[in-house]
Amino acid sequence: MGRTRTLTPAAPAVQETLEDRRRPPGARRPCGPTGVGLLVDNHVHTRHSGHSPEGNDPVSLRWAGLNRGLRVSLREHAPLPEGFELRQVGRPGPEFPPVSRAVGLSLRDRSLGVFFREALEAGLSVGFEVDVLGGRLDLTEELVEELYRQARRHGATIDALNCSHHIMGEAPWDFTPQTLQAAIAFCGGPAAFARRYFAEIREAVQTGMFHCVSHIEAPRKFDAGPAALPRPAFTGAEEVWWEELRQTLETMAVCGVALEYNTGGLATWGRPYLSPETLAEAVRLGLRIVVGSDAHHPDQVGRGFVDAERDLRRAGVGEVWTFRAGRPVAIPLV
Ligand SMILES: [Zn+2]
Ligand SMILES: [Zn+2]
Repeated sequence: MGRTRTLTPAAPAVQETLEDRRRPPGARRPCGPTGVGLLVDNHVHTRHSGHSPEGNDPVSLRWAGLNRGLRVSLREHAPLPEGFELRQVGRPGPEFPPVSRAVGLSLRDRSLGVFFREALEAGLSVGFEVDVLGGRLDLTEELVEELYRQARRHGATIDALNCSHHIMGEAPWDFTPQTLQAAIAFCGGPAAFARRYFAEIREAVQTGMFHCVSHIEAPRKFDAGPAALPRPAFTGAEEVWWEELRQTLETMAVCGVALEYNTGGLATWGRPYLSPETLAEAVRLGLRIVVGSDAHHPDQVGRGFVDAERDLRRAGVGEVWTFRAGRPVAIPLV
């Protein structure tokens, strides 16, 4: 394992909320066809994702958000170091529409600069979904430093970095049921996969580099839905799964790292990542909840947000969170 940053204390919650800024006193919340009470979609991809269809440009995303009463905060896939390019292949399927461009952001061309410029011109909040890179935190740290460097160079502010685990060893596990099964076999079984998956997320969380953990239950995406495995991948390892997950949520609480409620899960296992059990544990631990759609097309911005807002309220979530320049900002649900 390479060098890692020491743990930095979580930024204090700012008192001002998005609502305070946007609404005159006495004004009602905007209302529309989606869950506008959530105000921000905190996980949106652009045409630079590597697996988005045509038309997924930042201006269209901004309009899609405005139409739904939502501010769009990008979480584009960060570039990958050499040896990890597999992540950037297209993967059409139930989760993503047909792919027209199978190349994501790269450190070896000018794509990052183009991405920053387009996002700035569209007035979108910028953030990245950063892979754990098979536990190679030294590589992740170098990458994150480069992202901040290039953002400064282009006059952009990075609002948030999400920690995402898509790669086991050097291979992506989340493309298909087969890639997940291959990763489970690589680890030595479902319990071993769960231990390694969560341990790598905990290590990443403890570096202080990340503001939020994305779709933490994604390995369960083939338990149900259109691409379901005949036998759920974690059969026989449920106890280990839950214990590792619980331990990871505790680490996040200690480190002040937020947890994502990702409605993109609706397209795969038919429900958002977080399951009600995980959400209840997150609420018990006092974790900040950040809501995102994982949209790869303007039509997907804010998907499932009406139900998400209702379910979050029912679970006892009194406020959701977004980030500005790494600082958490509350969005009250009252
Ligand atoms: Zn992801
Ligand atoms: Zn994503």
